[in-house]
Amino acid sequence: MNLVWYRNDLRVAAHSPLHAALTESSISAGETRPQALAVYCLCQGQWDRHQVAPLRRWYVLESLRELGESLANRGIDLHVLDVDTFEKVPEALAEFAQSQGVTHLYCNREYPLNEKQRDTLVAERLREQGIILRGFDDGVLVPPAALRTGKGTPYTVFGAYKKRWDVWTADHHPAMTPVPSQCRAEGTFMGAKVVAKALEMLDVPEALTQQWAPGEEAAWQQLDQFMERSLADYRRNRDFPDLSGTSGLSVALSAGTLSVASCFRAATQAMADAGSRDGAACWIDELAWRDFYRQIMAQFPRVSRGQGFRPETDLLEWKNDDELFAAWCEGRTGYPLVDAAMRQLVATGWMHNRLRMVTAMFLSKHLWLDWRRGEAFFMTHLIDGDFAANNGGWQWSASSGTDAVPYFRVFNPVRQGQRFDSEGRFIAHWVPQLRDLDSKQIHEPWKQPLLARDYPPPVVPHAGVRERVTVAFKAAKSRF
Ligand code: FAD
Repeated sequence: MNLVWYRNDLRVAAHSPLHAALTESSISAGETRPQALAVYCLCQGQWDRHQVAPLRRWYVLESLRELGESLANRGIDLHVLDVDTFEKVPEALAEFAQSQGVTHLYCNREYPLNEKQRDTLVAERLREQGIILRGFDDGVLVPPAALRTGKGTPYTVFGAYKKRWDVWTADHHPAMTPVPSQCRAEGTFMGAKVVAKALEMLDVPEALTQQWAPGEEAAWQQLDQFMERSLADYRRNRDFPDLSGTSGLSVALSAGTLSVASCFRAATQAMADAGSRDGAACWIDELAWRDFYRQIMAQFPRVSRGQGFRPETDLLEWKNDDELFAAWCEGRTGYPLVDAAMRQLVATGWMHNRLRMVTAMFLSKHLWLDWRRGEAFFMTHLIDGDFAANNGGWQWSASSGTDAVPYFRVFNPVRQGQRFDSEGRFIAHWVPQLRDLDSKQIHEPWKQPLLARDYPPPVVPHAGVRERVTVAFKAAKSRF
């Protein structure tokens, strides 16, 4: 029997392991079609360790429920093993495989360190039972080690990586395996009870969950809508948080209810239309960023261990100020765009990309707080919390990462508001205390103390930040 091990790839379409498990299965006596089994290891203890947001857990569990039904309709049973942590996965899978007479296991590779260690142990354990493992790379468009510099080293600068990425993706068709047809009369979602119990134990306000639609079907609908309504103007609109200019597909991509290959194919098809070409090219750049951070995580294990991508930045001496951190988390720094963004994150489980950069840079450069605290806070709230993208984005913003422009990149949070929310609509929506201010005043409310009475003054000044950051980074470098 062939077994498909589901992880962050909760779908049936464009799923190479599922396709291979079915096409490579032999038809057993009494059956007329190929058969396969599917399994998911629910690791709630690992979710705790990785600080996975309750809202994300809800999305994954609901998507798993939909996947279980979708597979059952195709005659494939999905089992859910309640395993707690990654350490317990090898034994649980081995026992399960033995009980089901499994000969081959198929799965998509994952690149963070804990996941890679888990998979090595699983491979060793299953090999003892004579089970053969086959790994695929549907989580990316270009497998992590496929592109190397002339020196044979991994790419660490996005611009150079992207040039090679374009050539690779032009030459290699992404994995777009068909949705499997029905294998046998009907299957059973064997994990229904485990999933229902885990959902029951979750405490996520309905106000949060009702803003999101889990599952593969909803993800496809969202992709179609984005293609139709927003792709053509993506480059023009993507930086403005009060416009729905981006796809909002990050949760689907990170939990795998939609494959990156499906997104890439839709965008390359849209390139045929002159009106959409520029927007599609710009959106494909973002899919390349996603691959870029995954290959960084796969090839630089220290980033999985919480260390700076640039080792010298681990010598920076961050401030340890809980009050400043609380002001940032709660959206009361006195900088309207930063506060609006943080309130959006807590209220919706999502934040616009421009604002992720602004708030991350503000935490690490203005407040001089360790970027790891911000990274963890994002993980505990984001529905799309994704280790590689989150860590990559945080390290980029804190200048400990792969940014080709070094530490003197410091966004001015007021200027960012004036540029990307010029009318102040986004700010007024999330910070009602500032609704009486006009589009100019709203970016510097401290100049209008009578109109912004319930709003705090800036917790730190903007002036002098760049100079302080420069001195600190130079000092760390000289001590390294
Ligand atoms: P779109 O603009 O429609 O982009 C399409 C897809 O490309 C996204 O869904 C995402 O999968 C990918 N993508 C876009 N930008 C990036 C990027 N800079 N890096 C990697 N992939 C990208 N993205 C996550 O998916 N999960 C995270 O936990 C996460 N944390 C971040 C933290 C910080 C500090 C920063 C600066 C960025 C982070 N990002 C993260 C990247 C980016 O902000 C989100 O992917 C994007 O805002 C999601 O919105 P969207 O789906 O509408 O994106």
